[in-house]
Amino acid sequence: MDLSLSPSEQEFRDEVRTWLEENHPGPEPEAGLEEVMAFRRDWQRKMHAAGWAGISWPKEYGGRGATMIEQAIFVSEASRQEAPSPANVLGLAMGGPVVIAHGTDEQKQRYLEPILTAEEIWCQGFSEPESGSDLASLKTKAVKDGDEWVVTGQKVWTTFAQYAKWCMLVARTDPDAPKHKGLTYFLMDMEQEGVQVRPLVQITGEGEFNEIFIEEARIPDSNVVGEVGDGWAVAITTLMNERAGLAFGAIAQISNSLKRLGDLAGETRINGGTAAEDPVFRQRLAQLHIEAETMRLNAYRGLTKTMQSGIPGPEGSLGKWQWADINQRIAELALDIEGAYAPLDRGAENAVANGAWQYGFLRSRANSIEGGTTDILKNIIAERVLGLPRLR
Ligand SMILES: Cc1cc2nc3c(=O)[nH]c(=O)nc-3n(C[C@H](O)[C@H](O)[C@H](O)COP(=O)(O)OP(=O)(O)OC[C@H]3O[C@@H](n4cnc5c(N)ncnc54)[C@H](O)[C@@H]3O)c2cc1C
Repeated sequence: MDLSLSPSEQEFRDEVRTWLEENHPGPEPEAGLEEVMAFRRDWQRKMHAAGWAGISWPKEYGGRGATMIEQAIFVSEASRQEAPSPANVLGLAMGGPVVIAHGTDEQKQRYLEPILTAEEIWCQGFSEPESGSDLASLKTKAVKDGDEWVVTGQKVWTTFAQYAKWCMLVARTDPDAPKHKGLTYFLMDMEQEGVQVRPLVQITGEGEFNEIFIEEARIPDSNVVGEVGDGWAVAITTLMNERAGLAFGAIAQISNSLKRLGDLAGETRINGGTAAEDPVFRQRLAQLHIEAETMRLNAYRGLTKTMQSGIPGPEGSLGKWQWADINQRIAELALDIEGAYAPLDRGAENAVANGAWQYGFLRSRANSIEGGTTDILKNIIAERVLGLPRLR
């Protein structure tokens, strides 16, 4: 494929770049998650007002109708300039696209606009205490009662459920059907008595994700997305969108981290020189740059395939695996360079990171679990990209 931008794509990139330079709200507040969410809501409103929220969504649904290349350009630029994340990241990346692909006209009318404006935050209620990788084994059940469904069960690791108005919930509606067939995809109102949210504290000390206890919660029939019993297909659309959306932002984020890591290596003195001159650190740094470049080229390959087929394919799994692996190794190398100073929260005195590497090291442990574990991604790549025999 031709990796250079066409004149109109260059024009688009310049427009994005200039808008971000002029409107970037600065770094996120360092206080708690509440302040961060309020900051991100303001940022998303600003993006929406200028037509940059949901840029991949069709214009008729309030998006920008951007091409896949333009989306990649936008995400790259936003990550390169370290623009904050919008507040409704799950609604924009997954909820909206799923409603657009599988929703009724009434659902599109009702749900899409408040996702774009961050008025209604969305969360993803898929994982359960005993169903993560093997999602289709989930047990939360929904039973029809007149024109409503009564839902009982438990979800876990639900990111931003404490702020969410709507939950993309997959529940079992037919216990007798084969496990992939008996599931239905619902939009559950989080603001009801039958839904209790309890934050879980992560290794970083933050409570980004939650447990959700559901006790006879009510969902109207009109909130089923797709057909009853067809929830697995709708859930797959959600997961493909999640992985496809990651690639180009991840590349820019890795590139920013590598630049900082290079600065750290250049400024940290060891063995009478700098870490950047040390042959072992130098080799590890170079290896990470090489792998980041292969990740970039693979992302273009995935983009080409998606442009040809129209839907994000299993190649997105490769980018997610590479990103998790590189991100974790960048943080590990940073702490190795800081050496004996690494366990101190501030970082080494001559380090440029000042505690950020310590946070990054702890947060990156989740990268190979969230959005599908690396083991599962390897299985997908083996079976669906390389065409190797299936295990079962
Ligand atoms: C930060 C974070 C945010 C998250 N946010 C959400 C969210 O918003 N919504 C949501 O629904 N979920 C969320 N999750 C949950 C996430 O999707 C699951 O943790 C993940 O799918 C793994 O499931 P599990 O934790 O049950 O592990 P398990 O599936 O029990 O896996 C345990 C181990 O066994 C391995 N394993 C399992 N099956 C296989 C196999 N077939 N082959 C090889 N190895 C295997 C896994 O790789 C893993 O190492 C989040 C997780 C994290 C860490």
